[in-house]
Amino acid sequence: MPIARPDWPQATTVDAIAHNLAVVRHRIARACERAGRDPASVRLLPVSKTVDQARLRLAWAAGCHELGENKVQEAQAKADGMADLPIRWSVIGHLQTNKARDVARFASEFQALDSLRVAEALDRRLALEQRTLDVFVQVNTSGEASKYGLDPIAVADFVQQLPAFPQLRVRGLMTLAVFSPDPDQVRPCFVRLRELRDRLRPGLPAGIVLDDLSMGMSGDFDLAIEEGATVVRVGQAIFGARATPDSFYWPTTAAAEGTP
Ligand SMILES: *Cc1c(COP(=O)(O)O)cnc(C)c1O
Repeated sequence: MPIARPDWPQATTVDAIAHNLAVVRHRIARACERAGRDPASVRLLPVSKTVDQARLRLAWAAGCHELGENKVQEAQAKADGMADLPIRWSVIGHLQTNKARDVARFASEFQALDSLRVAEALDRRLALEQRTLDVFVQVNTSGEASKYGLDPIAVADFVQQLPAFPQLRVRGLMTLAVFSPDPDQVRPCFVRLRELRDRLRPGLPAGIVLDDLSMGMSGDFDLAIEEGATVVRVGQAIFGARATPDSFYWPTTAAAEGTP
């Protein structure tokens, strides 16, 4: 059965957003049932890129109290504009070192760590702000050159270096699956991330925790949960289809934006 990619309608009222959240939670519950898991073991991270602040205030009223954003500039503008609401901000997109200072100021979580340079820059800025940051290491499980993230074989060495950055609280691994309507293409990406996590867990340095697996988006989070996701990042199924093409967020060649 192909993965359904429906034309998600725009949700522009509190009720519409609340309805979509209920549908997503129902899908989470069904996937957990199939996998024999407790739905409480899956955290839903609403992804709000391209959604304006007026709609995000409706989303807050509908129960979205943490939000994921792909780009730092967009996230920071929203965090500033909605500073009156206690929103927990998660940056889920590739970061350049010159944006580390901004992330250190407003974000509670960063899910796309894939270089020691970024880890070092974040740690230094966080120390100045006297803050800590929950961090996920991004892994490229699809083998596509267009995807950011570490090669799976590089992750073991990488995590051994992370205790050098005490402001980073390492929580787990994150991945984007291959974009395909074919579950037989998508599922192995999720399996790869889980197996990698399971292999690494026994030998982790003190203070480094890899309990969490952030994997699964609007079209494929059911599969991700069946394969062990503890965080699903869901935008379009909550807010409606995006007009901005995904290539804006995931450049077709990583080199187009500078090497990660
Ligand atoms: C946009 C985005 C998502 C959510 O994608 P949807 O199709 O809107 O559910 C998940 N993860 C990352 C890294 C994203 O940039």
